[in-house]
Amino acid sequence: MGGAQNPFLIAQQQVRNAVVALGESEELYDLLKAPAHFVEVQIPVRMDDGTLRVFTGYRSQHLTTLGPAKGGIRFHPAVTADEVKALSMWMTFKTSVVGLPYGGGKGGVIVDPRRLSRGELERLARGYVREIWPFIGPDKDIPAPDVNTNPQIMAWMVDEYEKIVGHSCPAVFTGKPLALGGSLGRNEATGRGTVIAIREAMDYLGLPLKGARVAIQGFGNAGQFAGLLLEEHGAVVVAVSDSRGGILCPSGASVADLIAYKQATGSVVGYPGSRETDQFGVLTADCDILVPAALENQIDAEVARQVRARVVAEAANGPTTPEGDHVLAQRNVFVIPDILANAGGVTVSYFEWVQNRNQLYWTEEEVNARLEQKMVESFRQVVATAERHGADSRTAAYMYAIHRIAEGLRVRGLLQSPARHLRRIAAGQ
Ligand code: NAD
Repeated sequence: MGGAQNPFLIAQQQVRNAVVALGESEELYDLLKAPAHFVEVQIPVRMDDGTLRVFTGYRSQHLTTLGPAKGGIRFHPAVTADEVKALSMWMTFKTSVVGLPYGGGKGGVIVDPRRLSRGELERLARGYVREIWPFIGPDKDIPAPDVNTNPQIMAWMVDEYEKIVGHSCPAVFTGKPLALGGSLGRNEATGRGTVIAIREAMDYLGLPLKGARVAIQGFGNAGQFAGLLLEEHGAVVVAVSDSRGGILCPSGASVADLIAYKQATGSVVGYPGSRETDQFGVLTADCDILVPAALENQIDAEVARQVRARVVAEAANGPTTPEGDHVLAQRNVFVIPDILANAGGVTVSYFEWVQNRNQLYWTEEEVNARLEQKMVESFRQVVATAERHGADSRTAAYMYAIHRIAEGLRVRGLLQSPARHLRRIAAGQ
């Protein structure tokens, strides 16, 4: 798997493809190719043994044309500046695909949180906020959970932020626990959105979801809820992995049992009745639907040549390399691109922010109904764009997203109108 690929360069290439396909100008690419703001911070943390460790963290705000920056915070040893930049770019296009009034943001801290005690983790979360608080806010940049961060960590972060600014401010973070103004339905929203997109894709392709076999790489928040909800639709999970390895269960595994087993043992590996495999074995398992729900750069050309699924639903951000994408397209595998497939999380984060600002809270049914509406509408717009332009679904999602952003940039006076741009091309300028 192509772990060495630079996600920032990949994100730039994806933007370029869409800008060219839209017939837009180089100016638009220049406006979108890098984050508007990027900060690196050093976070001192007193460890339980009395020593001091200094962790490096980042916050990237890609674009705020359509509204404040929005995006998660990742705690992972492999976090890099370029990864955070790429993730913030993907957030811009994701929020635009689902029509949210946001731009893209992302944060990360280089840390293996499994090696921290609960107290150390809390001090790290609070320390990160003490370094980045001037850059964030409900009208500026609204962080949320991502890999290895969760509602408890958001609660510590809100608490620290409120102590600094001196007033209640729940809308500065989303993905909070319910007791601190979190939204019903937020925890399962990413997986739920992925499954709505999969249901629409199967319907579009004329394939049954009931009885479909599913492989899931990464069994955390996104992977587990996608699995549970796919099972509700009658699909069968036949392969799963997490950071410790993968398992194959050709006759199907119960997702609830898998979750309980992982909770008890720390991994899905060793699940009774399963056969052990590696990440490659899960990504290329005999299945109809593949859900990469772990990290980026998992499906490169080599993996893509051996993917057996008909549909790849990218719950993870950036799981497919451009080369992998090319091979999947050649092999007629239907890809639901990350900026659409995992947009359920940020959509319900948006609902949480709206509820916090209005101090009026919705029922879970209301949240889920609004999520359903957003996901279905966005899926149909992306498919319609793909058909209209003869583009693959990833390029179509970017085209649709960038088209909205370009409109925002034009009315702000930052981008020429298409007519002026085309007249300049015609004049050979
Ligand atoms: P999580 O921390 O809850 O779970 C991550 C899972 O991936 C864990 O099971 C972990 O063991 C596994 N994993 C880590 N490294 C792996 C590797 N090398 N191979 C296989 N598995 C590995 O994280 P999450 O929130 O589920 O996020 C997963 C992906 O979904 C990320 O790409 C994230 O950016 C994306 N995403 C999450 C949300 C959300 O709301 N949680 C929203 C949008 C996108």
